[in-house]
Amino acid sequence: MNLLPSLGIFLYLTIAFLFCWTEGKRSIIGFWGSLIACIIITPIGGVLLVWALPKKNPPGCVHCGNKYNEAEYCGICGKNI
Ligand SMILES: [Zn+2]
Repeated sequence: MNLLPSLGIFLYLTIAFLFCWTEGKRSIIGFWGSLIACIIITPIGGVLLVWALPKKNPPGCVHCGNKYNEAEYCGICGKNI
């Protein structure tokens, strides 16, 4: 039994899962949509697809209530979300 291919598949799925969990669930296709995309069109294709598609909703800022914030850091109060 060769462990290397299964290790590669495990790594592949882990990277795809982590990306979909962090980025995919904020996309309009959601976590499951991006996970399926990552499996079908490779994680690289899935990443490009998720980044090409618009975000579902801006995450907003919990500190100052700036609901249009789309970045990691709030544009108004500068805090990390
Ligand atoms: Zn803020």
